[in-house]
Amino acid sequence: MKLFIATLSTETNTFCTMPTAMSGFEEYFLRHGTATQEPPNLMTEALHVWRDKGESLGWQIIESLTAIAEPAGPTTRGCYDALSAEILSDLADCGGADIILLQLHGAMVADHVEDCEGDILARVRAQCPDATIGVSLDLHSHLTDRMLEASDLIVHFREYPHDDATACAIELFDLAQRAHAGEITPRMAYFDTRMVSLYLTKEGAMKSFVAEMATAQAKPDVLSVSLSHGFPWADVEDVGARMLVITDDQPDIAEQLAERLGRRFFELREEVTTDYLPIAKALDQIGTRPGLSVLADMGDNSGGGAPGDATHMLAAMLARGLTNFATGLFWDPGVVRICQDAGVGSKLTVRLGGKTGVVSGDPIDLDVTVMGIDTGLGQHLGTGLEPMGTVVWLRLAGEIDLLVNDLRVQVYHPEAFEQVGIRLAEKSVVVVKSLFHFYGPFSQISDHIVQVASPGGTQPAFRDIALTKRKLPYWPAVEHPFLDTSLEKAG
Ligand SMILES: [Zn+2]
Repeated sequence: MKLFIATLSTETNTFCTMPTAMSGFEEYFLRHGTATQEPPNLMTEALHVWRDKGESLGWQIIESLTAIAEPAGPTTRGCYDALSAEILSDLADCGGADIILLQLHGAMVADHVEDCEGDILARVRAQCPDATIGVSLDLHSHLTDRMLEASDLIVHFREYPHDDATACAIELFDLAQRAHAGEITPRMAYFDTRMVSLYLTKEGAMKSFVAEMATAQAKPDVLSVSLSHGFPWADVEDVGARMLVITDDQPDIAEQLAERLGRRFFELREEVTTDYLPIAKALDQIGTRPGLSVLADMGDNSGGGAPGDATHMLAAMLARGLTNFATGLFWDPGVVRICQDAGVGSKLTVRLGGKTGVVSGDPIDLDVTVMGIDTGLGQHLGTGLEPMGTVVWLRLAGEIDLLVNDLRVQVYHPEAFEQVGIRLAEKSVVVVKSLFHFYGPFSQISDHIVQVASPGGTQPAFRDIALTKRKLPYWPAVEHPFLDTSLEKAG
């Protein structure tokens, strides 16, 4: 048995003005068949699982490309063509495979290809018409007809923050093995829930809905149930949440269950989402609360394609005269370079942030002391360690600590601050440029967490995102997207 595995992953924010080029993959993670020789990260965990399970069965493993870039704007034509061609040529060189398992993101857009995953899967299918093709996707994906037509099995992460990549990889491997052996005949169907938003799965109604999906998956003939949450900051035709069901040779049951669960999810729309506070209200809310408050600068999450150099939150906090706080990670390679040249202990004036475009706000001139410079640090995301590039710790006005780096990455873990020497326990407030992935680790050390609808490239204002390509109406842009019956999907 021959198993072919590969990873290509970036989440494209089509409103981001920074292209995703080969440099974005090179600086984050780019390996040509050797990714599993290194410790796993979120998007390589599946490859480790598939290799280990395949080898334990005595299978031949062909490991191809692993390419991961921090989210930004559309991938350049040359970059996408080169990376996708590498997977296809590796597949040709090994003479095809019995089972092909791919870890893709699901929301990758290139300059000339709106549905990169569908494009790759269609090309893989054309090259290997008889192979069993399975794909694991981040749940922030655009599930498309083309992806379903070209593959046999699609499984999304169920959890956000994503701490179930290993479980999904095991599930997909086992289903692919059974399908290839002829024990099952996968039939996939999805239902468009007509929702565009974000859904944290660790508490409340969304946690219960994930449990409902698991219950549905345990029913006879049902092989897999997963929800594509969608990725809101992408002007693509297939944007939005879609409920996916795979059955064993029961296409009608797949369609009916996908619709039933999809409509159930729509019923829960107000409960599985939150209205996030604007900056001023968030700062009012934390006020003089005792203990450590964590504020998420949601609008500037580089993990969703925002630049990571927005100054809106910092400007508001300085304007209020707040002093005892830490904030980061500001992506500002120019400031990093200047501080490296000046050296630790230097006092200087830096022009921080606000450089990428209007979404980042204005740069702020600050008199700072360079407290520390570190290279080669990482922060944990699940079991993986995410790189941080060169990190500079700046202090201003006594008790304000800023973390600036030269690699666009969101804050995942308190160690991003603490390993450079910032003691969060002594702070009143820490502001993290992140959406949700910080939540678990920071909830361990903080007394309050407030997610802030700050302006920026990932501002969570889902009514207002300029989605021009989606054909069907969606909530929350309209209150009742299913009432226009002329557009109803059959059934
Ligand atoms: Zn995601």
